Amino acid sequence: MPYVCEIGTGQTLYLDNQGTQTLVTLSSSSAGQQQQASSGYQTGTWNTSPQVYRTSQGVIIKITTEQGEYNLLIQGSSMMMTPERLSLENSQPLQPLPVEKMPVNSMPPMKPMQPMKPMQPLKMGNMEMNLNKMEMKMGDMELKMGSPSANIRNFCSQCGAKVNSNDRFCGNCGHALN
Ligand SMILES: [Zn+2]
Repeated sequence: MPYVCEIGTGQTLYLDNQGTQTLVTLSSSSAGQQQQASSGYQTGTWNTSPQVYRTSQGVIIKITTEQGEYNLLIQGSSMMMTPERLSLENSQPLQPLPVEKMPVNSMPPMKPMQPMKPMQPLKMGNMEMNLNKMEMKMGDMELKMGSPSANIRNFCSQCGAKVNSNDRFCGNCGHALN
C-alpha cells in the first residue's frame, strides 16, 4: 500500500514498498511547474508503515523492515538513504496517509542491468538498420560492415599500394582502379 505525505514547501512525498524495494517519489510544484524525482532503495519488506518527521535538517523517513531500520533524508529536492540513525530531536511527526497508488507519471526506478538482448533490426520507412551485423539499407543504398565481402584489401596495379575494394582511385598514386 503506497503512502502519501505532504512535507510542506509544496512538496508531496510518495512512499511505496514493492517487493523488497522502497520506492520514493518526491513531487514538487513551484512556480506552476510540476517536478518529480523518484528513487528505489533495496530495503526489504516493510514491517510497519513508514514514519515521516520534519526536522531542522530536512524531512526524515524511517522505514522498518525485516532487514532493520532505514533512514531517508530529504533536503530540498534531493534524497539520501543513510544507514545511520538520524536524530529526531525537535522533530515534528507528519502523518503519511495510505493512497490508492503512486503518481502515474513517475519514472520507474532504475532496475539492475539486464543482459543485453540481441537488437532487433530497426525499421523506419525504407530505412532499415541491423546493429548486429552493422548493415544499413536506405532505399537502394546498402551499407554493410563486418560481412565477409567488406574490407577486402586490393592493391593498386600501378604502384602496389593498398587500396580498398570500393576505392575508385589509388590513394597513393591516383591511378584509376577498375
Ligand atoms: Zn597506385
